[in-house]
Amino acid sequence: MQNLIVANWKMNPVSLEEAKNIFEQIKSGTEGANAEVVICPPFVYLAELKGLTLGAQDIFYEEKGAFTGEVSGEMLKNLGVEYVIIGHSERRKYFSETDEIINEKMKKALESGLKVIFCIGETSGERDAGKKNEVLERQIKKGLAGVENLENINVAYEPVWAIGTGNNCSVEETKESIDFIKKFLALSHVEGVDTRILYGGSVKSENSGEYIKDAKANGLLVGGASLNAEEFVKIIKSAE
Ligand code: PEP
Repeated sequence: MQNLIVANWKMNPVSLEEAKNIFEQIKSGTEGANAEVVICPPFVYLAELKGLTLGAQDIFYEEKGAFTGEVSGEMLKNLGVEYVIIGHSERRKYFSETDEIINEKMKKALESGLKVIFCIGETSGERDAGKKNEVLERQIKKGLAGVENLENINVAYEPVWAIGTGNNCSVEETKESIDFIKKFLALSHVEGVDTRILYGGSVKSENSGEYIKDAKANGLLVGGASLNAEEFVKIIKSAE
C-alpha cells in the first residue's frame, strides 16, 4: 500500500493560469514517485488539469436536479475525478456541515464510485476538555454510519487547532490518535481492511517525514504548503 499524499488547494489560486503552473511543476517533480499523489483544486479547475490524480474538495448528496450551486458525485466521476474530501473542518465550521450531512455525502460519494478522504479531528477546546477520543469516535461512527466496506475510505486525522496555524501536532500525539483511530475502525468494521490514516495540519517539508516514519501515518493531507510546488514535491519525496 503506497502512502497517499493529498494537496488541498482550498479556494486557491485565483487564476487558471496559476493553477496550471503549480500543477505542471508538481507533475514534473513527482514523475516516478513512490507515493500516490492526489491534487484537490477548486471545482472550476478540475476539467482543465491533466496528468495527475484529481480529487474534489466537496460533493453534494443528490445526483442531479434543482440544487443551485451544487456538484454531484456522478458529475465528478464523469469528469475523471477519483477522490473527494468529505468532512473537512472548514466545511463543518463555515458551512455548518453536521455529522449527518457528512454521512449523506459519504454514502453518495461511495455509490458514485469515488474514493473518500474523510477528515476528522478535535478543536482545541475539545482537546483541552479531554474529549479528543470521544469526538473522534463520534465523527467516525456518525460519518460512516451504514458504510460497511471501508475499501475506498481514507481517514485524515486533522486536529482543527493545527490546520493553517503553523502549530502542527507533535509526532507523539499524532501517533496516539492514529493508533486510536485504527483500533476503533477495526472494532467497528470488518477486520482485515487496511484503511489508510493520514495526518493533516500545518505539514511542511521539515516535519512531513516524521509523520510517516515515526507517527506511522499512511499519508498526509497538505493545505497551504501544497500551493508551493517545490515545497509540495519535497513533502512527497519525504513520504516515499
Ligand atoms: C487542510 O486544509 O486540510 C490543511 C491541513 O491545511 P494546512 O496544511 O494549511 O494546515
